[in-house]
Amino acid sequence: MAGRAESGAAHAIVRRGRITVAYECAALGREEARAFAALAAEGLRELERLAGLPARARLRFELRAATRISTARGRTIFLPTHRVISRSAPYLHEIAHAVLPCRYAPAWFSEGLACYLESALSERGSGYDSRLFTGDGNRGVDADAARWLADRRGQKVLPYVGARGTPPGIVADRHNVAAPFYVLSHSLVKFLADREGLASLIGLARTRNFSSALRRISGKSALSWRSLWLAQMAPSAALPQSSSSRKTLGG
Ligand SMILES: [Zn+2]
Repeated sequence: MAGRAESGAAHAIVRRGRITVAYECAALGREEARAFAALAAEGLRELERLAGLPARARLRFELRAATRISTARGRTIFLPTHRVISRSAPYLHEIAHAVLPCRYAPAWFSEGLACYLESALSERGSGYDSRLFTGDGNRGVDADAARWLADRRGQKVLPYVGARGTPPGIVADRHNVAAPFYVLSHSLVKFLADREGLASLIGLARTRNFSSALRRISGKSALSWRSLWLAQMAPSAALPQSSSSRKTLGG
């Protein structure tokens, strides 16, 4: 976890507020690292504000050239350096995971909520949306989901959306498995957020018993919510479109 040089590359650190950024000097300049630290500090502050959380989390970013898939492990976030440079890093998504770890919630909710919050923050002007799997964030996710529902790859991951577990191949096959799973989960979480409010979703992220809390808050099970969401999606799911231009990485 520490920023020491396992590959022999020189590492450096910059700090901004409650954010620490460790980076490889050969891959990123100090000014770029400082600019990213400022962006991440703003993202953290705005996420805490949006979610109604106390402003106290301290996060460490590890930017690495060799990192393939962005991940959050506890309060440490690993991002591929090239995505930071091209402003396509899912740093807001990973901040959401770090601050709201969803320890007891199913994967569809944890991933869908991180995607939803990333888009919500960027739409408020706080940083950028990586758009790893969606074309237009929260505004366009239902159209993206409708296209996946009309595609056999979307149908293949659908049993895991609104239920426990993750589809086989989600890490190895980002293009055909992770992409539909994230987009469908994001759309279902947005459906819930639009009807129950974001504060209810933040409560669900922190509860120890997701199923009973969802039923208590909304009066419905996750499977009932999935049925309602699918019924609403069905009319626009008629036209399959190619999604081959989607980018393929992100956690
Ligand atoms: Zn994620």
